[in-house]
Amino acid sequence: MAIIIDGKAIASEIKEEIKKEVLLIEKQYGRKPTLAVILVGNNPASEVYVRMKKKTSEEAGINSMQILLDENTTQQELLTLINQLNADNSVNGILVQLPLPSHINENDIITAIDPVKDVDGFHPVNMGKLVIGQQDCFIPCTPYGCQELIIRTMPDIKGKHLVVVGRSNIVGKPLANLMIQKNNMANCIVTVCHTATKDIGYYTTQADILVVAVGRANMITKDMVKKGAVVIDVGINRIQDPANPDKTKLVGDVKFDEVSEVAYAITPVPGGVGPMTIAMLLKNTVKAFKLQNMK
Ligand code: NDP
Repeated sequence: MAIIIDGKAIASEIKEEIKKEVLLIEKQYGRKPTLAVILVGNNPASEVYVRMKKKTSEEAGINSMQILLDENTTQQELLTLINQLNADNSVNGILVQLPLPSHINENDIITAIDPVKDVDGFHPVNMGKLVIGQQDCFIPCTPYGCQELIIRTMPDIKGKHLVVVGRSNIVGKPLANLMIQKNNMANCIVTVCHTATKDIGYYTTQADILVVAVGRANMITKDMVKKGAVVIDVGINRIQDPANPDKTKLVGDVKFDEVSEVAYAITPVPGGVGPMTIAMLLKNTVKAFKLQNMK
């Protein structure tokens, strides 16, 4: 049976490391890093994420500003707020929780955030720096968390074949770009699968490291996984609980029970990638503080 990669425990370790770093920052600069999180509207899942981000930031000693805006907030009002936060030297990180209401253009909002405060790493400047391997960028939190889980599970990943299923701008594409970089935390051979991939299993069965970020419950089955692979399941899907049809439960994109029989190691859902995403947001916020104060 596979080793269960405990994202919750690893995220907790990272949070403790950050807590120590924040104390040092406070000693040296007389203030703590500050993260502003903006939520527009009442998407229930987003509300939970924003609450968790606030709670975890505060546990790590980071100042957390939560800005809750009405569903009818205009794009101009949101842009004005972002400009104010960009200009405010006491704010180090700005995160706009996605998705935004449909009358707001997400790209316009992401692009308005000062790249040096873009702790989500979605600004084209940060994406570009990630692609060319420049260190002074913010790596999007979910792929960054996946990388951390991979290297803690398989320390020597040089030359390993990593297959990622999914090519979204927030997970698949940044992860692929991160893992082909020529450094000790990457240096993989990367294949990316998506909806135009005819036989996904043909590729996934060749993966030493398989990362799945699709949003389709239990899509990856045992026959699609190579024996001994490290499997990282990013997917979060709410389905009817087969054991209790009145209730729902969260599952990943990987059929956990059967894939555990062949994989070397696997992340659970929940408790795998999810907690890591928030831990890496804290890491990015501390990095933002340093980049802004070490000029
Ligand atoms: P998107 O919907 O933006 O992207 C999904 C990707 O999967 C697309 O590239 C799509 O291909 C591909 N895809 C969809 N269906 C198939 C299929 N049948 N075969 C092959 N490829 C397919 O999703 P996200 O990347 O935003 O999220 C993916 C999952 O990860 C979701 O469940 C989401 O909830 C979860 N997630 C979890 C996070 C965490 O912190 N744990 C953070 C972010 C996301 P194409 O491009 O061709 O359309």
